[in-house]
Amino acid sequence: MADLGRLADALRQHGGEVREAGPDDVVDGVPATAVARPASAEGVAAVLREATAQGMATVARGAGTALDWGAPPERADLILDTTGLDRLVEHGAGDLVVVAEAGLPVSSLLETVRGAAQELVVDLPPGRLVGGSTVGGLLSTGASGPRRLQRGGVRDLVLGATVVLADGTRASSGGKVVKNVAGYDLAKLLTGAYGTLGIVVRAAFRLHPVRPDRAFVVGSGPLADVAARARDVVASQLAPAAVEIDRPAGSDVAEVAVLLEGTGDAVGQRAGAVAGLVGGRVQDGPPGWWAELPGVSVGGSSRVEPVETGVSTSLTSGGSTGGVPRVEPVETRGVTLAKATATLTGVAALLTAARDAEQRYDVGIALRGTAAGVLHAAVTGTPEATALAVGHLRAAAPSPREGTVTVLRASREVRTAIDAWGPVGGLDLMRAIKRQLDPGRNLAPGRFVGGI
Ligand SMILES: Cc1cc2nc3c(=O)[nH]c(=O)nc-3n(C[C@H](O)[C@H](O)[C@H](O)COP(=O)(O)OP(=O)(O)OC[C@H]3O[C@@H](n4cnc5c(N)ncnc54)[C@H](O)[C@@H]3O)c2cc1C
Repeated sequence: MADLGRLADALRQHGGEVREAGPDDVVDGVPATAVARPASAEGVAAVLREATAQGMATVARGAGTALDWGAPPERADLILDTTGLDRLVEHGAGDLVVVAEAGLPVSSLLETVRGAAQELVVDLPPGRLVGGSTVGGLLSTGASGPRRLQRGGVRDLVLGATVVLADGTRASSGGKVVKNVAGYDLAKLLTGAYGTLGIVVRAAFRLHPVRPDRAFVVGSGPLADVAARARDVVASQLAPAAVEIDRPAGSDVAEVAVLLEGTGDAVGQRAGAVAGLVGGRVQDGPPGWWAELPGVSVGGSSRVEPVETGVSTSLTSGGSTGGVPRVEPVETRGVTLAKATATLTGVAALLTAARDAEQRYDVGIALRGTAAGVLHAAVTGTPEATALAVGHLRAAAPSPREGTVTVLRASREVRTAIDAWGPVGGLDLMRAIKRQLDPGRNLAPGRFVGGI
């Protein structure tokens, strides 16, 4: 039985609060016992040390916009709410670096750095951004959007992180060396680890100058054609900032959209050359699906314009209020969301496999993402059919090196019917790292691949 009094005592001198969990304090269906909301890294360390001493399982929560992604935890005794750590620590504009606490909403960070005409190129979906997605959640889910093609994913943009381990030890990459984490690039290790290795309390990111001019090229055609044309653009000298493919469920046709960024006339010239390559048209704005995960519809009018967030790929519908897009979340419609990776040449096979799976198993599969091979799939169908369809997509990339299909968000029934992670390389090493950093399995047990 958790002793909340002792948890509160641990936190007292550092600020912050501990309370009993309420009906909303649930992690993917697993109810918590208590919620701690520290106000500093010291507070995180103190409360975590005490929680672990009591044998509690702790799950970090930022804005909670992706708390049902990854596997449900085996237990979630304590939710560690990071929203009390919401300071922007430093914006080194001259060095193109920003340091922020884990609970800072990404939208606030973007707003600050926009003042210096800079941006953190993560391209979060508009709905998540508006929902308050935090720096810690961004890092822990390993998010990336269209412009990862040129700028890389979060793992490439993170420069360092400070993390609190389950026993309350604070460790930083690039700074103080802690014996049991020496040798690891902590920030990269924590990226995409779903909070299973440590609680991120602050992180430093590389920024990029906002490139003032941009053009989009949009074309469409049969699946194999679109994949081939997109591949040609990726491999060209035209330096696209993003090449995205969108294939709606049930369709034999896909769309390709290319973003060119830069300064002055050169952008228009490159756009013209891309239009020639993909057989598309040049336009000022992105297509309505840009930077959204599939299975999420941006409602309102069809007039879609960039939002002034500094995230040049954010969208809002013209008819929405206060610049907030009306986004229908995936979870309300029972859609299974998966992440599919492929080699550059494997994208065509993935698109075709989606079409085949639909015809065989009576499902719908919407596929969207970068033509270089990081896509998301929204699968609609019965749990059994969804499991078969995911298996079919996996067969299009038969080894982890050639691609993976992992289920991110799904109902219990789907999770029972399928191995959500599929074949994974390096699992023994991942398990060894988990044992070293969190030997008692006190952090989000069961959330990550292999039951880590
Ligand atoms: C697998 C995955 C892929 C995604 N892909 C994309 C994408 O391609 N493009 C895109 O734009 N967006 C993507 N997203 C969405 C985006 O990353 C999330 O909406 C956002 O990062 C969640 O932030 P949050 O504050 O709401 O986190 P929460 O929903 O509160 O937490 C998300 C996860 O991070 C953990 N966590 C939160 N804070 C911390 C912390 N301080 N320390 C340790 N762990 C923590 C949580 O325990 C949980 O597992 C993806 C999300 C996931 C899960």
